[in-house]
Amino acid sequence: MSTTRVRFAPSPTGPLHIGGLRTALFNYLFARKNNGQFILRIEDTDQNRTLKDAEQYIVDSLNWIGIPFDEGPGKATPFGPYKQSERKHLYQQHAKYLIDNGQAYYAFDTPEVLHQHRLDHEKEGKTFIYNWHNRDKLTNSLSLTAQQTAQLLADKTPYVIRFKTPVDQNLILNDIIRGSIPIDTSLLDDKILFKSDGMPTYHLANVVDDHLMQITHVIRGEEWLPSLALHYLLYQAFNWDIPKFAHLPLILKPTGKGKLSKRDGEIGGFPVYPLSWKSSSGFKENGYFPESVINFLALLGWNPGTEQEIFNLKELETIFSLERVNKSPAKFDPAKTQWFNQQWLQRKRPETLFEQYFDILKNKSIPPPLLNENYITAVIALIKNRAHFVNDFWDLSHYFFERPKSYNPKHLKKHWKSNTSEILLSVSNALTSAVPFESNLIEKTVKSFLNDEEIPIGKAMIPLRLSLVGDLTGPDLFSILEILGIQESQARIQLATQGVPKTLNFES
Ligand code: GLU
Repeated sequence: MSTTRVRFAPSPTGPLHIGGLRTALFNYLFARKNNGQFILRIEDTDQNRTLKDAEQYIVDSLNWIGIPFDEGPGKATPFGPYKQSERKHLYQQHAKYLIDNGQAYYAFDTPEVLHQHRLDHEKEGKTFIYNWHNRDKLTNSLSLTAQQTAQLLADKTPYVIRFKTPVDQNLILNDIIRGSIPIDTSLLDDKILFKSDGMPTYHLANVVDDHLMQITHVIRGEEWLPSLALHYLLYQAFNWDIPKFAHLPLILKPTGKGKLSKRDGEIGGFPVYPLSWKSSSGFKENGYFPESVINFLALLGWNPGTEQEIFNLKELETIFSLERVNKSPAKFDPAKTQWFNQQWLQRKRPETLFEQYFDILKNKSIPPPLLNENYITAVIALIKNRAHFVNDFWDLSHYFFERPKSYNPKHLKKHWKSNTSEILLSVSNALTSAVPFESNLIEKTVKSFLNDEEIPIGKAMIPLRLSLVGDLTGPDLFSILEILGIQESQARIQLATQGVPKTLNFES
């Protein structure tokens, strides 16, 4: 059997949105699963819409989520070049072949004439279709004599090349996800294969390249399904083997009504691009890990057939199959994407998250001794289970890097009594005997001290938390004490006992 070869064939007309990235991922997974090749082909035949930075953006996005291509621009070139603008001569040759074989023709109808036909049809509530039923009445090499055509070509009259769609053929299209689709070719129009600007249209270039690059499976978005009949007919016209096709379901807005768009992201405050593009920030800049993007993308339209939700790339490479891609569209759920990031965050070791948090901390005015790898890593280990993103770390742990600027007044009022300062100072004193200063020993020391002194736990622990954190939030208090260390803990208690009674008007 021939090697599996699949391609991701974006048009560089803008940033890749997550629908495109999912197409790339499914192609990559299918290639890996079948020990095949994953090819990147840049479909830049529409010169007016091609954007300079878009190709690099596509490559950067694939690299960021970790699905590099095996063949493509700048890489192994057995079937290159991989940019359609560098393959023009091939499309010309193939268009010529179809004309010579009577399967395509020159059409000289001006845009104005065609526009008028469309208007006339519209008036009668009809749609103008250029095909077998009227092509002999229009201006093309089928209705004109060979001599007239040759003259028009010699005069450099602008033309397009149209496909001569066969009439009355019952075509059965096959799609791995959707099964067989019957088509009556008489209903199809004679699509343009070659434009007046000397460039092929998507259809011709795409089919020629898929054949020449020996693509075995075409995996692409559902929006290309209407083109499948023409593509089949082109393969037939060239007498080529037809690759297998799989059209992936659409990705819908969170409401389920319509295709997910950039605008939905703007309204809902979530990214739709992998990386930032102009003023839109991407998943990366929003703190998503490549692992979580891969994970949620994989489940947008594919299902493993089990309850399992967390998958890494390696696992997906072994279990992915096109048979498990759903026919029905997939709804994009921003909350669920965040959940995936939270899940992946929990799976990461604090040491791995250090760099990212360090970058955030560097931009705050933090005393240099606290910008210490061991210290920061210990803080991360303690708070990460409450975070979805590294960006959440600061809110969850700022008190490790700065002393409380205030104490939550509502809690102070309720929990700070006239004897609280005295209790806290005695607890602070007791802390000295917790050596080494580790959470278990601190807990034992504090609890037995309170027990001996017959002080109810809550009377000491709640104000203690307020003194250290400024609020009643945060993880286990004994762990907070351990990380802050005895000196800083005692200093904060001291500050609170000096400051708080004044705010509450206790006599000192
Ligand atoms: N250039 C097309 C696109 O931008 C490729 C469609 C296909 O994969 O055939 O999506």
